[in-house]
Amino acid sequence: MTLRQAQDDRFDFPAGSIWLVGAGPGDPELLTRKAERLIRAASVIFYDALVGPGVIDLAAPGARLVPVGKRSGRHSQAQQTIDRLIVAAALAGERVVRLKGGDPAIFGRATEELDAARQADVPVAICPGVTAASAAAAGLGASLTLRGLARKLVFVTAHARVGEALDLDWQALADPQATLAVYMGKAAAGEVSARLIAAGLPADTPVALVENASLPDERHFHTRLDLLPLAARTALGEGPALLLIGRAMARPAGAQAARTGLVAAS
Ligand code: SAH
Repeated sequence: MTLRQAQDDRFDFPAGSIWLVGAGPGDPELLTRKAERLIRAASVIFYDALVGPGVIDLAAPGARLVPVGKRSGRHSQAQQTIDRLIVAAALAGERVVRLKGGDPAIFGRATEELDAARQADVPVAICPGVTAASAAAAGLGASLTLRGLARKLVFVTAHARVGEALDLDWQALADPQATLAVYMGKAAAGEVSARLIAAGLPADTPVALVENASLPDERHFHTRLDLLPLAARTALGEGPALLLIGRAMARPAGAQAARTGLVAAS
């Protein structure tokens, strides 16, 4: 490989291939350099609802931009449509970027898209991204793990099909040594709180809620596990939100003393 080839934007992105690209949590500054390069080189970009506008703006002037995300309740038919669209575009000779919020390999339905591409013999690869939990921790100025206290970090989704209860191993999740990063957990906050407490996690376990992490309208709230349903109902708005549960989410003593409300915003 010559240096010239290595510097060519399209070298690892031939016509007729697909990249599943992590767009990060919203702030374009949190894109990887590779993601930016792929976005600039794409001839068509299929993007999710959670991809920030500043990220889409990086597309080449002639690129086709196709929104394919629904904010919630995306059912399997819609996913199959996306699978078909990205493969058809690649087979038509496009350089396809499938742009997904956060990291494509975390609650991103990446497997369906990888399988669809491979079945059609279309080259496909993943460019990782900053996941929402990392951005939320950064926004809080807190660590997700804590030496000796939070030795385990669990990424869990609390998204259930309409009308169905959450099918999670609550006993395993109610681990006082863990930090739980609950994705898609806003609607299920009541059930998450009740089930974790029933499974033995102390009611006063610290909880942080982060909405719109890394975006200009980012908001944080600190509460405790038994008050989580109230906090999720009253404090959160319409933006994507992450629930972080565990002792690592305790506020520093000074900050705690300054706030006396049930739900403390920061
Ligand atoms: N692949 C994504 C997650 C997709 S699931 C990632 O790695 O981050 C969508 C869920 O992610 C949302 O319901 C919310 O819980 C969380 N999320 C995504 N972006 C977020 C943001 N900017 N702030 C807070 N939570 C976010």
